Amino acid sequence: MHDDRKLVEERLNRVLTQRIMPAVHAERIPLDLRVWQVPGEPVPVAQALSAEYEPFQVGQQWGRPWGTCWFRAAGEVPQRWAGQRVEAVFDLGWVSDWPGGQAEGLVYDPAGHPIKGIAPRNQHVPIGGPGPVTLLIEAAANPDILHNGFVPTPLGDLATAGDEPLYRLARAELAVLDEEVWHLGHDIEVLRGLMLELAVTDPRRHEILRALERALDALSLDDVAGTAAAARARLAEVLSRPAHASAHTVSAVGHAHIDSAWLWPLRETIRKTARTFANVTALAADYPEFIFACSQAQQYAWVKEHSPEVFQRIQAAVKSGQWQAVGGMWVEADGNLPGGEALARQLVHGKRFFLDEFGVDCRGVWLPDSFGYTAAYPQLARLAGMDWFLTQKISWNQTNKFPHHTFWWEGIDGTRIFTHFPPADTYVGEITGAELAHTVRNYAEKGGGTRSLLPFGFGDGGGGPTREMLERSRRVRDLEGSPRVVIETPDDFFAAARAEYPDAPVWSGELYLELHRGTFTSQARTKAGNRRTEHLLRVAELACTTAAVRGRFDYPYERLDRLWKTVLLNQFHDILPGSSIAWVHHEAEAEYARVTAELEEIIDAATAALAGSGDTPWVLNASPLPRTEVLDGAFVRVDPSYVGPLVPADPPAEEVRAGARYLDNGLVRVEIDDDGLITSIIDLAAGREVLAPGRRGNLLRLHADLPNEWDAWDVDRHYRHQYTDLTAAESIVLAEAGPLAAAIRVERAFGDSRIVQTIRVRAGSRRIDVRTEVDWHETEKFLKAVFPLDVHADRTAAEIQFGHVFRPTHTNTSWEAARFEVYCHRWLHAAEHGYGVALINDATYGHDVTRDGGATVVGLSLLRAPRCPDPGADQGTHQMTYAIVPGATIADAVAEGYALNLPLRIRPGGAAGTAAPLVDVDGATLEAVKLADDRSGDVILRVYEALGGRATARIRASFPVAGIEVVDLLERPLPGESLALEPDGGMSLEVKPFQVVTLRLRRA
Ligand SMILES: [Zn+2]
Repeated sequence: MHDDRKLVEERLNRVLTQRIMPAVHAERIPLDLRVWQVPGEPVPVAQALSAEYEPFQVGQQWGRPWGTCWFRAAGEVPQRWAGQRVEAVFDLGWVSDWPGGQAEGLVYDPAGHPIKGIAPRNQHVPIGGPGPVTLLIEAAANPDILHNGFVPTPLGDLATAGDEPLYRLARAELAVLDEEVWHLGHDIEVLRGLMLELAVTDPRRHEILRALERALDALSLDDVAGTAAAARARLAEVLSRPAHASAHTVSAVGHAHIDSAWLWPLRETIRKTARTFANVTALAADYPEFIFACSQAQQYAWVKEHSPEVFQRIQAAVKSGQWQAVGGMWVEADGNLPGGEALARQLVHGKRFFLDEFGVDCRGVWLPDSFGYTAAYPQLARLAGMDWFLTQKISWNQTNKFPHHTFWWEGIDGTRIFTHFPPADTYVGEITGAELAHTVRNYAEKGGGTRSLLPFGFGDGGGGPTREMLERSRRVRDLEGSPRVVIETPDDFFAAARAEYPDAPVWSGELYLELHRGTFTSQARTKAGNRRTEHLLRVAELACTTAAVRGRFDYPYERLDRLWKTVLLNQFHDILPGSSIAWVHHEAEAEYARVTAELEEIIDAATAALAGSGDTPWVLNASPLPRTEVLDGAFVRVDPSYVGPLVPADPPAEEVRAGARYLDNGLVRVEIDDDGLITSIIDLAAGREVLAPGRRGNLLRLHADLPNEWDAWDVDRHYRHQYTDLTAAESIVLAEAGPLAAAIRVERAFGDSRIVQTIRVRAGSRRIDVRTEVDWHETEKFLKAVFPLDVHADRTAAEIQFGHVFRPTHTNTSWEAARFEVYCHRWLHAAEHGYGVALINDATYGHDVTRDGGATVVGLSLLRAPRCPDPGADQGTHQMTYAIVPGATIADAVAEGYALNLPLRIRPGGAAGTAAPLVDVDGATLEAVKLADDRSGDVILRVYEALGGRATARIRASFPVAGIEVVDLLERPLPGESLALEPDGGMSLEVKPFQVVTLRLRRA
C-alpha cells in the first residue's frame, strides 16, 4: 500500500478543528449583557444582586487589573430547543488557553446561588428548558503575570498594577450542544491521540488510521450534524477492541492543583476554590464514576466560610464517595523549610480538619508540587497515621532522572513510607493519548509493578477536571494499544500498588529537587518571619502551659490555634519559598508582624501571671538545653524549658579582652584586618586556627544572579562565575569592650546598599556572632557570607526537622554536583575526625559547601534580588544573625541553634516562685510542650533524639502525673506503645536515632 499516512492525519486535523468542533454548538443566540464594575475589592453576591448595572456589549473591554466586574446575562431559550442540551457559553476574553492565572468567572443563578465556574478550557453553564434565562457572572480580571515570560511586571501589586482594562469580552450566548457531533469529536480525539503514540510498525496504528479515514469519508462537511452518527459508526469497531492482557493500569484521579497564593493574592485563591469546587461538584453529578481528590484543609475552611453552599455540595460529594479529602495537611507546604514542629502541625491541623468536618482520616501525604522533600517526612507522616506519599516534582530535576516511580522512601530514622511519583510527570493531567503513552514508557517499575496514578484536571483556577477529560477516560477504560484507565481514589490506588509490589525498591534520604534552589533564599523577610514566629509559638506554648498547669492562666487554645494556622498558611509552597508576587509577600510580612505582636503579648501575659509583681528578675529559657550566658550585663545559668526567678552564676574565669582589631575571651581569639574581614579565629582550647591558611572569613561575596528562567525560584550554577568581594570597609569600630562581651562593628557601602555587621564575642562562649543589618537595593544579585574552614570534611551535617542529614562535599557524581546549593535549618556542621566547626543562623536557610584543597568552604546565602514575579523582591532592610562556633560537636550545634533562635527573656517578678521547669527531659531533646488539643488539660510533650544515636531519656514533671501514654501527632494513643510511671513520678524512654516521640501526661 502507498504510504499516505501524513495526508490522512492532516485531513483529520483540519476536519476535526475546523468543521467538527465548531459544529458542536450549531445553534446559538446571543445573550444581552449588563455590567457592574465593583469599585474596590471583591464583594459578596448579595451586594452584586442589588447593584446598578449598565449596558455592555460583547467586544467591549472590561476589568482593570485585579478588578471584578459582575455581568448580568439575560436571554430566552426558544421553544424549538425543547428536549435538547442547552448551555450558556462564555469567553471572557481569555489571553490563551492557559487555564489558571488569568481571568475567571463564577456563574450564579438570579437568586445568587453559585452554579459553576468558567475558565478558558471550561466555558459552559448548563441551562434548563425553554423560557427566560438570567445569569450573574462574577468575573475576576486577574492579570496573567507570566504572559511575557520571566520579565519584571508591575501587575503583581495592586499599588502598581494601573487601571487599564485587561480583557475584551468575546462571547456570551445560549447554544445547543449537539451530542452526536460532540461524541464524534471525542471518538476521533481519543483514537487520534492513541494512533500517534503507536509505533509506525504496529498494525494497530494503521487499522485506526483507516477507520478514521472511513469516518471522514462518511461525514458530509455540508451536514456535519446529520452525518455524525454515520461517521461514529465507522469508529465503533476500533474503539471496541480490548486492551492487551499486559496493559499498564492508570488510576486516574480528578484533581485541581490550586496554589494557595502565587501569581495572585490569598483573597483570589478564596474565590478560585469556590469556582473550581462548584465545577467539580457539578461534574460529579453528571459523571457518577468521577472521583476527585482534594488537599489543603485551609482551602476547605475558606469555602466553608465564604461559599457555604459550595461547601454543602462538597460534604454531599464526600458522603457519596466522589470526593476524597487527601494530603492531611493544612496547606501543601514547602517540603524543606518548615521547622520540625511546624511540619508536625501541618499534619495535625490538616488531618484534624478533615476528621472534624467529614469524619475522614487521611491516609496519605499529597504534595505534587513542593520544591523537594525533607528526609524527616517518612517518620512524621507515619506518626500522623499516614501510609502513603505522593509527589511528581522530582521529575523537574535539571540533571538526574530519578530512578523510581513506586518505591519505599526511607527517612533519617529508618522509617519507610510507600511512595509514588506519577510517571505522567504532571499534576494537571488531561487524559490524552500522549500523556498515557508517556506514562507507560516512563514508568520505571515495569516488571515489578503494573500501575500508576494520574492526577487530572486544570489547576490554579483553570476549573479542575472537565467533562472532556471524563469522556476520554470512558473511551480508554479498555482499549487496545492504550493503558487501562480506571478512575479511583488515591487510597485505592496505593493499596493496590503496594499489594502487588510489597518489596518495591528503597530510596533513602532527602528528595532533593535539582531546580528552584533559589527558594532557600528569595524573599528573606518572609523567611525570617517564618523562622521567628515558629520559635515564638514554641515560647508561647511553653509559657502558657507552665502558667496553666500552675493554675495561674487560662490556656489560650483559640488564639494559639489561629496563630498556628496563620504561620502554617504562610508555609505554602509559593509563599515561604519566596516565589509569589509582591502582593503576597507584603501581606505575609504584615501577617508575621501581627502574629509576632500577638505572641509577644501572650508570652508576656503568661509569664506575668507566673512571675507576679516585684523587682526580682525572672527569666524564660524556651530552649530544651541548659544555658550559661551573659544576660543583661550579668552571667546566668538557666535550666532548660524554664520560667522562673533568675539564678546568677559565677562568671567565667576569663573576661573578654578586645582591641581595635581583635576579640579574645580565653576560649577563642578573633582577629580582624583593615578590611574588616576576619583573618584568624583561634580555638584557644584546641590550639588551632579555624580559618584556612591565607584565607579570610566572613567574606561578603556579591554574585551576579540571573538564572536562565524562574528568577525567584532558581539559582543557576553560573552564579559562581561572576562576583565581587566586598572588601572595602567604611568604618571599623570597637563597639563593645567587655568585660562580659565585646564587639567590633564593620560598616560597608556597595552598589546602592549598605551593610553593618557587628562581630561579637561573649565571656564563656566559643560562639562568635555576626549580627547583620543590610539596607539592600541591588537587582539580580546574590549575597553570600563565606567561611573557608581549615577542616577536611568529607561531608557536612545540616539540621533539618527533628534531626540532620549528611551531604557529601565532593562532586564525584552528577547527583552531588547538582546539589550546589542546599538548605539547612538552624545549623550546618563541618568536621574532620576529632574537630568540627558549626555555622549557626537565625534566619538563613540557603548554604553552599565546596572543597578547596584541604579546606571546607561554607557560604551562607544571605540575600537575593530576583525581579520576577516580584520586581521589588528583597529590596529594603533586613536583620539577621549568623555565628561560627569553633570546636563544635553536633550536640554543640544543636544547642547553639536553639540558643541563637530562642534568646533568653527577662522580666521583673515577685521573689517567690517555683524554681523547677515544668518538665525536665534528659537524654532526648524536648521540641514542644503544650496542653492537649482535646482540652482535657493533659500536657503533651514532643521529644526527639537529635544526634543520630540511641539514648535513654529521663523525663520528670514538676506537677502531679496520673499516667503517661505514647501518642501519635494527633495525640491519639499509639497501639502497642506503653510507658510506665516510676514511683518517683519520673519515666524512662528508650529512643532510637532521630526518633520522634509524643507523650501525653495525664494530670493527677
Ligand atoms: Zn503549586
